[in-house]
Amino acid sequence: MVFKIPLSFPVLNGNESLYAQQALNSGHIAAFGQFINRFENKLSKRLKTHEAVALNSGTSALHLGMVLLGVGPDDEVICQSFTFCASANPIVYLGANPIFVDSEKDTWNICPELLEDTILSRMAKGKKPKAIVIVHLFGMPAKMKEIVELSVKYNIPVLEDAAEAIGSKYQGRYCGTFGRIGVFSFNGNKIITSGGGGALVSNDTSFIQHARHLSTQAREDLPFYHHLEIGYNYKMNNLSAAVGLAQLEQLDSCIKSRRLVNQRYRKLLKNFPGIEFQSESNDSLSNYWLTTILVDKEKTGFSNNQLKIALMNKGIESRFLWKPLHTQPVFNMTPYYGGNTAEKLFENGLCLPSSVDLTLQDQEMIVSVIQEELSKTFK
Ligand SMILES: *Cc1c(COP(=O)(O)O)cnc(C)c1O
Repeated sequence: MVFKIPLSFPVLNGNESLYAQQALNSGHIAAFGQFINRFENKLSKRLKTHEAVALNSGTSALHLGMVLLGVGPDDEVICQSFTFCASANPIVYLGANPIFVDSEKDTWNICPELLEDTILSRMAKGKKPKAIVIVHLFGMPAKMKEIVELSVKYNIPVLEDAAEAIGSKYQGRYCGTFGRIGVFSFNGNKIITSGGGGALVSNDTSFIQHARHLSTQAREDLPFYHHLEIGYNYKMNNLSAAVGLAQLEQLDSCIKSRRLVNQRYRKLLKNFPGIEFQSESNDSLSNYWLTTILVDKEKTGFSNNQLKIALMNKGIESRFLWKPLHTQPVFNMTPYYGGNTAEKLFENGLCLPSSVDLTLQDQEMIVSVIQEELSKTFK
């Protein structure tokens, strides 16, 4: 379905065409070319202190990250339950077992107390988790101070799924730079895009070198094809990097626009009973990739689903929040620690259109649909 107002649509009015044309003219559209290096350098400079490897998706970045952390058959990997399946699928690719943990109400991300309970419980069962996958959902930073403390205390590395959180900050530091390894996605509906793509960042140079090697089929530097390890075809191509570089140049203005969209929704919905937002703490700055609300049916008289349908009838796309992974049939044998926080968020939440070029008029129209639903209820 084509929506009049899509959930999140890229705006490509910077150097995208110019750079893509340059890549085409150079003939380098595959695994080599200047834009890959420029993209990686720009990304690592932007995040400060970190080196970056450009890859062909966020999912492959997560997979490689787990390989680098030594995740293998029968290992256990702790993962935030409230997330997209791509956070956990690579655990299964590697023959390891996910252990899901609930979220907390402030950030909607992994609950540090439950995380510690989970670590202790798994260790008591005789298995020390190999890694912890945390996510900054919709751009909102997780409670990294507490999480990093636990990572140090129990000596379990954090793999930071910052796929949705490029440019978000926690205590002045960029999301993706807290874990031993951080991961980003540049898929089509993320805050910036390279068509399809991802990146892996780390301060550990040996990780970066190993990631480069593994992402290009683990080819040894010899005149013939020679392999000491199983590799992957995971590198970003130069054409994607050309688009990605142009997008990266606009990251600041994209974040500014998404935050403006969020502010406007807050203002327009300020006096609505029963509508709540995902909110920043004093410690955090979200890129507000998507503006997300919780609908309290008792107060509004309509559910998130009813609102979604009302919006759809006006050509406006909205989307439910991620369905917690511990409730997914494919993961029904997976251990889970927590209560119903993530499930409640899923049951009541809705992502509103949040594109960079969303106008005030668009937003007023969206809010008028919410208003209509409300007046139906209380007529
Ligand atoms: C988008 C996303 C991914 C996967 O990224 P792709 O580039 O689509 O493979 C992983 N984790 C989260 C939380 C995401 O939102």
